[in-house]
Amino acid sequence: MPTPFREEHQHFRQTVRKFAEKELAPYAEEWEKAEIFPNEVFKRAGELGIFGAHYPEEVGGAGGDYWFSVAKSEELPRCLMAGVSMGLLVQADMATPVINDLGTKEQKAEFLTPAIKGEKIAALGVSEPNAGSDVAGIQTWAKKDGDDYIINGAKTYITNGCRADFVTLLVKTTQDQGAHGCSFFLVPTKTKGFSVAKKLKKIGNHSSDTAELAFEDMRVPKRYLLGEENMGFMYLMQNFQSERIIACTSACAGGSYMIDEAISYGRDRKAFGKPIIKREYWQHKFVDLTAKLEAAKALTYKGAEAYNDDKYVRKENVSMDTVKTISLAKIFVGDVMTEIADQCLQFHGGAGYVEEYHIARAWRDQRLFRIGGGTTETMRYYVAKLMGL
Ligand SMILES: Cc1cc2nc3c(=O)[nH]c(=O)nc-3n(C[C@H](O)[C@H](O)[C@H](O)COP(=O)(O)OP(=O)(O)OC[C@H]3O[C@@H](n4cnc5c(N)ncnc54)[C@H](O)[C@@H]3O)c2cc1C
Repeated sequence: MPTPFREEHQHFRQTVRKFAEKELAPYAEEWEKAEIFPNEVFKRAGELGIFGAHYPEEVGGAGGDYWFSVAKSEELPRCLMAGVSMGLLVQADMATPVINDLGTKEQKAEFLTPAIKGEKIAALGVSEPNAGSDVAGIQTWAKKDGDDYIINGAKTYITNGCRADFVTLLVKTTQDQGAHGCSFFLVPTKTKGFSVAKKLKKIGNHSSDTAELAFEDMRVPKRYLLGEENMGFMYLMQNFQSERIIACTSACAGGSYMIDEAISYGRDRKAFGKPIIKREYWQHKFVDLTAKLEAAKALTYKGAEAYNDDKYVRKENVSMDTVKTISLAKIFVGDVMTEIADQCLQFHGGAGYVEEYHIARAWRDQRLFRIGGGTTETMRYYVAKLMGL
């Protein structure tokens, strides 16, 4: 496949790489232990143009295509903690694309531009205690009251949720209509009735904050309704495609890093008189893992190319063919990453099970991939439907 990256993408890639390696990675232990990274990281990423490379210039972006997002997501894992990478990608590619697509001039000025600059922290609020995969089953309810909506309900597992300035929030605006009764709102977290109910403790991605949110008679003006009322589910399905591709590109980059680190470890570590990497058993294992990683990356790039063609070249909604490719990538990358992480840990022996080596954290962190942004099983369920099965 010819490389989609031109000189300006490579230049941007270097900026992100330097940021991840020099300004983030040295703090990995500290931020993982603190179970949060500083808010200033958002500000700094904004100053470097990391959030806005793929957004139009009129909202404060650089007017680039989707391959800027891909380049960014491939370099951020060099910070050696998926939590920071995830927090920043939520800001750039999960909570804000829907604002760029649908927001009014005023909404973009109030939410998108400050998010691109890193001056406001964004979160995406979709999952609820009683509805994750089955998004149409959400229960958070926005009742119309004159020119306002009164929102009651709860969200859970919300990345950046403990310190977000606003949440791109999916709620129900019409009862008993399933997917056809959902709407998106932009909700400043200083709104009366909004609260962080709990900071959740996780098995990995420790440096990112994950919250349970509660809304009690939270009055939100109609000007914060994003796009059309009751069209939220369709908007979310569009938004998910960017989120899933970026999760895949980022995971593949992390997988490549795990293989490189393991091979380097195996050159030094000796058993039965020679470096463990000299054992044919492991050499063939790494050859197979590399083949699978290349295949996963190729499928992911196919999805990214289709997404870029739909959204940036034709400037249309993501097609069903593109959705299918992206869903297949999410399934395949998940399976491959699980195998890479597990084999790389195994190759480290006992060293893989202690915190001194990065593989322990990488193994824990990658486990989220098959759950977040649509589980592997749900992806299979959607693709089976798309295949007419
Ligand atoms: C660390 C972390 C960060 C997250 N960040 C965010 C965020 O920022 N914003 C946000 O809105 N959400 C976020 N999520 C939520 C995430 O998207 C959900 O956890 C995910 O969509 C799964 O939903 P669930 O947890 O409710 O699982 P459930 O929907 O309860 O699924 C439970 C099991 O049932 C399976 N299942 C469900 N439906 C089917 C089916 N049709 N066929 C076969 N099996 C099925 C699932 O695959 C899974 O194995 C985050 C989650 C985590 C853990």
